[in-house]
Amino acid sequence: PLVSQISTVTDHQPASMAAFWMPFTANRQFKSAPRMLTSASGMYFENDKGQQILDGCAGLWCVNAGHGREAISEAVARQVSQLDYAPPFQMGHPLAFEFAERLIQHTPPNLNHVFFTNSGSESVETALKIALNYHRLKGQGTRQRLIGRERSYHGVNFGGISVGGIVNNRKTFGSGLPGTDHLPHTLNIDLNAFSRGLPEHGTELADALEQLIALHDASNIAAVIVEPVAGSGGVIMPPVGYLQKLREITRKHGILLIFDEVITGFGRVGEAFAASRWGIEPDIMTTAKGLTNGAIPMGAVFVSDAIHDAFMTGPESMIELFHGYTYSGHPVACAAGLAALDIYEQEGLFQRTLAMEPVFEAGLHSLKGLPGLIDIRNIGLIGAIELQPLDGQPGERGRRVFQHCYEQGVLVRWTGDILAMSPPLIIEKEHIRQLVNTLKEGIQLAF
Ligand code: PLP
Repeated sequence: PLVSQISTVTDHQPASMAAFWMPFTANRQFKSAPRMLTSASGMYFENDKGQQILDGCAGLWCVNAGHGREAISEAVARQVSQLDYAPPFQMGHPLAFEFAERLIQHTPPNLNHVFFTNSGSESVETALKIALNYHRLKGQGTRQRLIGRERSYHGVNFGGISVGGIVNNRKTFGSGLPGTDHLPHTLNIDLNAFSRGLPEHGTELADALEQLIALHDASNIAAVIVEPVAGSGGVIMPPVGYLQKLREITRKHGILLIFDEVITGFGRVGEAFAASRWGIEPDIMTTAKGLTNGAIPMGAVFVSDAIHDAFMTGPESMIELFHGYTYSGHPVACAAGLAALDIYEQEGLFQRTLAMEPVFEAGLHSLKGLPGLIDIRNIGLIGAIELQPLDGQPGERGRRVFQHCYEQGVLVRWTGDILAMSPPLIIEKEHIRQLVNTLKEGIQLAF
């Protein structure tokens, strides 16, 4: 039976593709022309045709140390056989404690407590619930309003889509959580086109928070949640000084600031977290993805001492937070995460991002001047190219470039007419050259 199971897993051609309802995918289009990945190593996937595909996206912003890291697979295999599972409620296992202690060596100084989840979406829900519960504990239970931002992505659960700002992710699912509001997004191509690093214009957009406070009153606002660099909404940079301003305003009004670092965490923008790169101490930070190098699903929410300590005040026999998941701090995920963290530390990958940033930036910006290209923006090892939509066919030009790149052996991420790049942090110059050259051909062909 074991042999037949293995042959099913490695068979490149499934007998039928009908049963699997694929997430965030045009199912019928995909199933009529599938793109199947069958293995991966280092910077490359291999597809079912035996073609090498340069991974320009670190999978989905998660495989930061590159694919097929043996230390991770060995740690996972060892852990499954030693302790496959341990209940996380009222029971513990050493790895979860060890992993949490190791992680806080990399967080901003005020974030010293970790709540484990299984995904970015769950991290967001957890953070929002902790924020609401915190204010209640402090005797400020009227602080219930949650503020997100236009074009932001905070996962797919109800809290996340309510504070999120991507219309397609919201409009078909009812009215969402009551009492949410949104800041304006910070993309301004007219003023900031072809910015390198953080754009110069738009810091004042943070003042919109003062307006929301004037409208709702601070006594009704629990938290503001933003991605330091917005990913899924189109790779949108924070203008210089914008995040600092949000921090000042939230602090002044007793509002918690949540950084959703699901994509920016674990070295993506240099330093372990975007918060550290820009010297900001959020009250809560949500993460997932690079936490285990994508090998095992896991998320982590980092919480400030002040918030954590507010929960640790009642009778010691009482559960402090009525929240958690069957797989919170799963031993196999912790083993994968510890092995990933060893690699990040030993190979200095968070700092490597900063060293590669100018090379990546120069490569992407060399495309400026190609027909139909209206913006290039980048920070750390995140880059985006925005194309002028074809008349009456929004997204089509982006799809053509994406398709060309895939056929030529390069995976980029395509959202409408924006192409996003977020390669593994182990990327070398020759990979950047391959990525840029393939994009160039694709953009020329799509014109
Ligand atoms: N938050 C941000 C900023 C993300 O980019 C994502 C996923 O891309 C999520 C939350 C949701 O993470 P997951 O897909 O693991 O639930």
